[in-house]
Amino acid sequence: MNYVTIFMAWPYANGPLHLGHVAGNCLPADIQYKFERSKGNRVLMCSGSDEHGTPITVSAEEEKISPQKIVDRYHHTNIQALIDLGCSWGDNIDPRGVEYGGALYNRTSDIRHKEIVKEVFELLLESDFLEEKTMQQYCSVNGEGNVKFLPDRYVEGECPECGYDRARGDQCDECGMTYDTNELLNPRSKMNPDATIEIRDTDHLFFKLNLFQNSLEKHAAERDDVWKPNVRSMTKNWLNMGLRSRAVTRDINWGIELPLSGNKWAKKRVYVWFEAVQGYYTCPLIWSERFADQSGHNDGKNAWQNWLTYDPRKNQKHIYFMGKDNIPFHTIIWPAIIMALNSANSGNPISNNIKIGDLLLENNVASNEYLMLQGGQFSKSRKHAVWLPNFLETYDPDSLRYYLSINMPETHDTDFRWDEYVDRVNNELIGNYGNFINRVLTLTHRIKSDNEGNPLLLYERLDDYDNLITEIRKLHTKATISLERQRFKESLRHIMAISQKGNALLQQCAPWKYLNSEENEEKNKSLSGLALAWRIARSLAVLTRPFMPFQSDRLWKMLGEVTLIDDILWQDAIKFNSKMTWVDTIPAPLFKKLDLNEILQREDTIAKKYNNDNEVTPVARDKESDYIQFEDFLKVEMKTGKILSVTEHPNADKLWIIKLQDSPDSTRTICAGLKDVYEKEKLEGMNVVYVANLEPRKLRGIVSEGMLLAADDGNGNVKLLTPEGEISVGSLVR
Ligand SMILES: [Zn+2]
Repeated sequence: MNYVTIFMAWPYANGPLHLGHVAGNCLPADIQYKFERSKGNRVLMCSGSDEHGTPITVSAEEEKISPQKIVDRYHHTNIQALIDLGCSWGDNIDPRGVEYGGALYNRTSDIRHKEIVKEVFELLLESDFLEEKTMQQYCSVNGEGNVKFLPDRYVEGECPECGYDRARGDQCDECGMTYDTNELLNPRSKMNPDATIEIRDTDHLFFKLNLFQNSLEKHAAERDDVWKPNVRSMTKNWLNMGLRSRAVTRDINWGIELPLSGNKWAKKRVYVWFEAVQGYYTCPLIWSERFADQSGHNDGKNAWQNWLTYDPRKNQKHIYFMGKDNIPFHTIIWPAIIMALNSANSGNPISNNIKIGDLLLENNVASNEYLMLQGGQFSKSRKHAVWLPNFLETYDPDSLRYYLSINMPETHDTDFRWDEYVDRVNNELIGNYGNFINRVLTLTHRIKSDNEGNPLLLYERLDDYDNLITEIRKLHTKATISLERQRFKESLRHIMAISQKGNALLQQCAPWKYLNSEENEEKNKSLSGLALAWRIARSLAVLTRPFMPFQSDRLWKMLGEVTLIDDILWQDAIKFNSKMTWVDTIPAPLFKKLDLNEILQREDTIAKKYNNDNEVTPVARDKESDYIQFEDFLKVEMKTGKILSVTEHPNADKLWIIKLQDSPDSTRTICAGLKDVYEKEKLEGMNVVYVANLEPRKLRGIVSEGMLLAADDGNGNVKLLTPEGEISVGSLVR
């Protein structure tokens, strides 16, 4: 009996999933899950929404709603989008029975997750894996002396390693380096770049990651042949830098409370990195409590142990899927926490040698590179993305799964392009595979037969095709090996090559000439080829299923199969000895052709709508809220500036693009709707007042960094505000 666990990195519930997430880890995890199941293994798949930490609070602040509202909204949107994509997250209990496992897409706000995290926290504290230290942290101090600590995501600066200008407070997204607070160069507050920020002392608990240096080095060496180059090298970088203890608590109010008494801990929470990775442990436990136990699993609430704790009889395997920015959390940090738990539970010293009953370490951390969007990086915060829910409103999920699998960023970044999507779907997926299936089914349905059932039954002669069958079996073996190694692109290519062989077989035996001709040897020979092609189509229904589940179900029905496709084992798919089935229903094509022009027009409309939505945002005034607080007024940072030059906006009739001297040594670009009221010449050289801390936004394709202040009498008179007399640019307006 094989017990396989598929772990997918937990997406932040601060926005909808985009195609970058799908290609990076959602799709690979689901393909692997479906593949492992079809091999007859007992498979548990675990992931969920990461709902704490600053990504959530940043989104909540942007939308001016509570963090809870944000995570509730996106948790449901994302799980639904994944199910609509054909991922198996809806199968909490395996259709073969609960002993076989199931899937759980949980969330870190789950009360049980919080309880288990607190227990782990206490255990590690008692076992001396946590230590208290005073650290330095950026903070802003307001006029009344109130200190507000700024989480690392609220601080930006230059990476001390690679010089990247938008590195976070504790980690650089560009080179993967992590560092101490005071090492970041030119730090600034992200929300308020001009504010002065300072460093103050704050007490926190730290996980002694340094204790695991040797065991993690041994572990990495053991994985040398398994990990992909990106995983090997990023892990090596971390280990070479020398591991340091990491804070597991932080000054923030959104997160899991600490199981510690004392005033000083009350305002602190468990650091999100420390509790979110524990989701890999809490999720199987919660699955056991809520699903296995309820459904009568033999081991009840302890069912999770079959998958998670080492038992040599169970042939266990743990595979993790994530994007490359997440690698060290899965090759260093999570293994270290597992080793700490094993040591704490058993009393044995720290080791990567897992003993019976210990929690298992990973067998592969399969990280992908990035999927780019037409050359640029997908980004939730920069809104450069194709969102999964929107995509699925219009397009076939299988076509997306095919394109992202055959174009998967396994070893280097790949690009999502609409033209390539259309080309690959029309010419490869439909041109090769869809076409083969359609030919086999329609040709067979055109045979006039007096017998019930599949008319090809009379013509089957598998022995005549030994060579071809051997070649198909070889391709099947190759596809299997690729999937065992998480090489999805390669595997799908081998499977598509089987379909190419099928097409070549049809060309060679030309059954269309003999469908309703007299019975003779020539006809027998030709239709025996079609009979084998039918068998190949059936194999392909099983083999394409992990990649494209919806079409696989449709094909299975059109083949007249009455057994569950889930009961067909991956290795039996090429045995060609099943009962030949039949259904009278006329077959339909598996896929619809895509039209590039139609798609580009649709995407263009969506993009324009998005730009327009962002162009005019009239603020409805609510009578009750006519007064604002003085603090609110102080949030608006107004400054003086001088207009240097004015140019036409290429895409907007009413906008000038204004280059503004905004301080003695810097300039910025502002798009202003002044074309109807100010000549270009009149504006150039003018001293003006502008809003300096307005979030930059794109106006018809040009990023506008602020807003000029003008008075408007409502009758078409618009006058820019200008300081009386000379004052240096960049002066604060109050
Ligand atoms: Zn860097």
